[in-house]
Amino acid sequence: MQKDENKKSIQDKIATIKYNCDSKPHLIVDQKKCVKCKNKICTKICPAKVYEFDENLNEVIVQYENCLECGACRIACAKNAITWKYPSSGCGVIFKNN
Ligand code: SF4
Ligand code: SF4
Repeated sequence: MQKDENKKSIQDKIATIKYNCDSKPHLIVDQKKCVKCKNKICTKICPAKVYEFDENLNEVIVQYENCLECGACRIACAKNAITWKYPSSGCGVIFKNN
């Protein structure tokens, strides 16, 4: 049983996660810093693909509703451009045991 669980891809595991979406974003990026950011590491390291750079709008789109609250993005962003806080009480990601 444990072995089968370990064979699952990260996307399979993410598909088992539930969310209680907050009405207000708990992640906000400073677009003035983002527009000057060359590597846009947030779009590469987030396991839930929360950040996406929109070339037409020339800004980073943040789908905060999908956030796993791992905190990796705020550590990885060298420009300190992410205002990150936990969602309101009772909101955010809900991890299941199976
Ligand atoms: S890594 Fe930081 S500065 Fe760069 S695009 Fe992402 S949030 Fe903006
Ligand atoms: S906290 Fe984790 S899951 Fe949420 S946006 Fe940052 S890297 Fe992605």
